[in-house]
Amino acid sequence: MSLRTRRLSRRTTLVTAALAVTLVGGGVAYAATAQPAIKTSTPRHADQVTNIDVLRQQIRNYYGDPLGTGTFAPDGSYAKEASGVAKAGTRWLAAVQDPRGQKHGSTKGTKKTKAIVMDVDDTTLTTWNYELASNWAYNPTTNAQFVTDQRFPATPGMVEMATKAAKAGYAIVFLTGRPAAQEAATLGNLTADGVGVDAGYPAPTTLSDGEDGLFTKPAVADYPDYLKAACAEDPNGSCTTIHYKSATRAHIESLGYDIVASFGDQYSDLKGGYADRTFKLPNPNYYLP
Ligand SMILES: [Mg+2]
Repeated sequence: MSLRTRRLSRRTTLVTAALAVTLVGGGVAYAATAQPAIKTSTPRHADQVTNIDVLRQQIRNYYGDPLGTGTFAPDGSYAKEASGVAKAGTRWLAAVQDPRGQKHGSTKGTKKTKAIVMDVDDTTLTTWNYELASNWAYNPTTNAQFVTDQRFPATPGMVEMATKAAKAGYAIVFLTGRPAAQEAATLGNLTADGVGVDAGYPAPTTLSDGEDGLFTKPAVADYPDYLKAACAEDPNGSCTTIHYKSATRAHIESLGYDIVASFGDQYSDLKGGYADRTFKLPNPNYYLP
């Protein structure tokens, strides 16, 4: 269901009055209280919004790619802004007590391992090439091809941040709405498997209960108990992004970790607690409620 939710969410980025619908077994069922997926203002005049063609050009300029080649510039505004967020993360992690508790008496006696949690798309891997290839119209089939081919480069600054964190003893956790079927390709793109881009992130940490530290979104039928409980009230029991991600963070903390920093490009990545501090990566391309 996550893919369908994503598709719906992305489609609504360009539609102002889309109804909140849920796809059920190939059919479309309208939610009891149909409402726009994105709550925003209603302009009274057309000149209160940016013309969408002009906006697309502004976004291309922001990525340092005015001609729309699909490759963002390492010295463009996007790269600078993303790097700045990553550096703020590094400063925060360094300011927090030593994760191994070897230098600060205040952590003595605590069993919690400090951890960082990172989203994938447009937080650790940048999907600019896909936004251009799709002309900002998300399509699960064409997107899945980019995922399978592992075509996404690292988000500027984030490999350096994560590498320093891993060296300092932080557990490295990735938490993505990508479906479980994309887990192997996602791991290969993030780390190194010789296919497509190898972004060079440290390997996800194997957690205290033996789970791997790359969380993809399972099908509803495969939900672990902590998702079933957290998402029972969601449409068809399928977790919203906020519930999926916050319940997973709660699960991680229940295993004996303290999530010191959570990184995401969507506010829905970051809401719902279970992180000491959140870091928002820039993304003007789509909005996932
Ligand atoms: Mg993302």
